[in-house]
Amino acid sequence: MTNLASRTVRIGDPLQHSIWYKTAPAAPETGSLNSAVSADVCIIGAGFTGLSAGIHLAERGRRVVVVEAEEAGFGASGRNSGHCTPTFHSFELEQFRRMIGEPFGSRMVRAQCDSTNFLFELIRKYGIECDAIQSGYVEAAHSRAAFQAQQKKVADYNALGKQTRLLTAHQVEELTGSPRYFGGWFHPEGGNINPLAYCRGLARTLIELGGDIYTATPALKIAPAGSAWRVDTPNGQIVADKVIYAGGAYLAPSCWQGMEKTYALLPIIGLASQPLPIEVQNQILPRRNTVLETRHDPASYRLDRDGRLITSIMLEGRRGGDEDYTKELLTTRFRWLLPQLLELRWENYWHGRLDMQPRLFPRLFGLAPGVAAMNGYSGRGVATGTVVGKVLADWATGTPPEALTLPLESRGNAPQLMKAAMRIMLPYLRFADQRAARRDGLRPPPY
Ligand SMILES: Cc1cc2nc3c(=O)[nH]c(=O)nc-3n(C[C@H](O)[C@H](O)[C@H](O)COP(=O)(O)OP(=O)(O)OC[C@H]3O[C@@H](n4cnc5c(N)ncnc54)[C@H](O)[C@@H]3O)c2cc1C
Repeated sequence: MTNLASRTVRIGDPLQHSIWYKTAPAAPETGSLNSAVSADVCIIGAGFTGLSAGIHLAERGRRVVVVEAEEAGFGASGRNSGHCTPTFHSFELEQFRRMIGEPFGSRMVRAQCDSTNFLFELIRKYGIECDAIQSGYVEAAHSRAAFQAQQKKVADYNALGKQTRLLTAHQVEELTGSPRYFGGWFHPEGGNINPLAYCRGLARTLIELGGDIYTATPALKIAPAGSAWRVDTPNGQIVADKVIYAGGAYLAPSCWQGMEKTYALLPIIGLASQPLPIEVQNQILPRRNTVLETRHDPASYRLDRDGRLITSIMLEGRRGGDEDYTKELLTTRFRWLLPQLLELRWENYWHGRLDMQPRLFPRLFGLAPGVAAMNGYSGRGVATGTVVGKVLADWATGTPPEALTLPLESRGNAPQLMKAAMRIMLPYLRFADQRAARRDGLRPPPY
């Protein structure tokens, strides 16, 4: 049983506010650490990254201990929108390869482009109950320029063996219920899941594979212990050959000095509507696709298993700070986007955080020989976190740095001004998106 009384670190909005807390199967039984234990690998953080790493290590016969400050899925993994997208939203593939440098760029392009197949295969392999549907991803273009960029995406992704295709405005409307787009891009390997159910399923799988998970157990310090490492927690410690720090945007900061500076925190709100009538569900998302638009301040949406509309939105001014105002704003926006929504009530409203990297893709940090960390998903961590969990397992089982999928980098700080820059840029980018849509004969959304 999770021992609530022993919690010493409070790091955010209660998970109970999220819709997934209502609809996910119960978490596996776990307790806090009250003794000294040893492991081959100690993993800090029970989100997608840490648990996927743990499973891939346990599959290779390694003894794994996970410590989690709160409960499995407490961080972003239990409160996201559950879109599974095997794409790079902000980069063309060639741009990404150049940015990361070869051979890592091409390896990561392959891994990310196969990431949803990897995730759904893991779900099938271990029978994880998480309402998983691999029904396809629609990227809805808000302007002609965005649609033209999608033509290049079709060529690039299909060159890797994918079967993506362009959609006319009419086809986008058929799949997404929205008459507001210029056209779109369809990727059949996208999908969606109940993220907390998935995360708890990963935790259960790891335990079944022989791993130990201690919840309500914050790691307070990582210190050398001879040729190994010691992880101190309030009432116990773990000695392990390797340590993986997978604390995402929910770091308990004292564990490794400076980790909190490696990314900028971006607050974000998640919302779930009331279950929609079945005829409305079938009008807006007849194939239960997952939808993200190309605007910089995008609408994204999907249905959950009970037909609730799920979305998320970045905070800005009153938006996100004032719950009633935010709900009203999103009602206006979604009723404009989806005219079929005659009645829309937001029944769940929860807070989350994103770990933003300037390059909008996670980094693998070598903190010391035997200690690695991964963060910076920048809002795309469901499929990516699952895949890079395996990269961490490769690192921990001795794959040399030059053979890893991502480069092992020294810890570096995200630019101080990044957060302010994001705040300043958003209104400007929104204005540019509105102007582009108007120029192409489309009405921009009411914000
Ligand atoms: C509202 C919202 C919507 C999103 N939507 C999507 C989406 O649709 N698709 C997508 O791909 N991505 C989405 N994301 C991003 C995605 O959820 C994250 O990138 C991903 O979950 C990160 O997983 P993680 O395991 O790295 O971190 P987390 O899930 O945050 O896990 C880190 C864990 O580490 C624990 N921890 C931290 N420090 C310590 C310590 N010292 N000791 C012990 N435990 C510690 C925390 O308690 C936490 O449970 C969204 C995120 C949010 C917030």
